[in-house]
Amino acid sequence: MEYVSTRNTQKVFSFKDVFLKGLAPDGGLFVPKTIPKYNLEELKQFKNLSYNETAEKIISKFCSDEFSKTEIEDLVLSSYKSFRSKNVVEFKKIGNLNLLELFYGPTLAFKDIAMQIIGNMYGKILEKGNLKINIVVATSGDTGAAAINAIKNRKNIKIFVLHPYKKISEIQRKFMTTVKSENVFNLAITGNFDDCQKLVKSMFADKNFSTSINMSGVNSINWSRIVFQIVYYFYSYFKTATKDEKINFSVPTGNFGDIYAGYVAKKMGLPINKLIIATNKNDILTRVIHSGSYKPKKVEHTISPSMDIQIASNFERLIFDIFSSDSNKISKLMTDLNNKGELIIEKNELEKIKEVFESESLTDDETKSVIEEIYKTHNILIDPHTAVGVGVAKKLSKINRTMVLSTAHPYKFSEVVYKATNVHPKLPESLKNAMGEKESYEKLPVNLTKVKNYILSKI
Ligand SMILES: *Cc1c(COP(=O)(O)O)cnc(C)c1O
Repeated sequence: MEYVSTRNTQKVFSFKDVFLKGLAPDGGLFVPKTIPKYNLEELKQFKNLSYNETAEKIISKFCSDEFSKTEIEDLVLSSYKSFRSKNVVEFKKIGNLNLLELFYGPTLAFKDIAMQIIGNMYGKILEKGNLKINIVVATSGDTGAAAINAIKNRKNIKIFVLHPYKKISEIQRKFMTTVKSENVFNLAITGNFDDCQKLVKSMFADKNFSTSINMSGVNSINWSRIVFQIVYYFYSYFKTATKDEKINFSVPTGNFGDIYAGYVAKKMGLPINKLIIATNKNDILTRVIHSGSYKPKKVEHTISPSMDIQIASNFERLIFDIFSSDSNKISKLMTDLNNKGELIIEKNELEKIKEVFESESLTDDETKSVIEEIYKTHNILIDPHTAVGVGVAKKLSKINRTMVLSTAHPYKFSEVVYKATNVHPKLPESLKNAMGEKESYEKLPVNLTKVKNYILSKI
């Protein structure tokens, strides 16, 4: 399979390039030249597969140039063997709504599902190529923890994680800062997530710097994360749908990575009706769906911090597809966004987007009410991100044949959940020793030179 950048379709890249670089050299995002599509016969073969078998089938489609069938089987098996659910994910019912729980990995959020494979893939690629790399990643709270868990104690690889100082939950922070491993470095940046993401993007864009440290990225712009997340759309569909019915997915959304994986699943032939973009007060995606204007505002701090994002990077992949892979058009739109602080999607293209997507946002008060109500009526504790997914599905009256992605374990946001329900979520038994006492991180300002110098001093 060949890959191109959303901003230049002339140059092709291999899966390995795409995996190691993360971001295309021209600042665009990597996408497959064409998205493969299953016919009805092929789709039927997914019906009775286990999670791991589904994963092997999907992953092979995208990276068989780099990994053999046995290597992929091995990657999947070793990545998921310690998950607390035999089939990686679990299902629950909230009345007619289906809940797809994605938090059975080591750091209690869906990010583990992709990140565990990424860690093992780095292992394999570095071993084969005798390389040394440095990962630099920005996190709104969960990516960092998942990445650290997947990369810690590995040879020939160091990881630098930038999180917004005091803007993530205590448990989120401790999952990162109490990990004792010589190749792990935590940076608390005194800004918000968008500042962290911008710093990382600037370091990538600085060719001298990024080449000199062999920089690699695992943010949700890394194409491989999308691939590993496509898997649970397929698996959950075939586990719950009857006949060939179409179902909706409601997805708590920040950087547009998780829901874009659903979009790719739909393009691959999965019978999806609507993809519901559920946002908190940082509602740039809801606004663009309603008006066609993509215009970042100031980031608001909310009780669902992993979605406190105004620049939803993966959105570029969607518009690339909507504009029929016209990379000149995408470059122009992204330049507009840079220069004018706004990008406009015209009527025809907006209509195309609306055929697939719907969107609403929830305030913090609404989110708390959802957590309280779901506990009272169904005796289930849900985390604030999941609550946004549930609340938005209800707001849009998409109750039947709808799957809500439950993206984090309630324990990770204990304080908020306790305030709404008076119940303390419990840490799963097997994770009792996951967090240590002693925290270590470096506090740094939003200053590119200082961050670069810190990284250079550690490699
Ligand atoms: C990262 C995250 C999200 C948002 O996912 P995106 O891929 O950024 O849209 C939602 N919920 C939780 C718990 C997360 O960690």
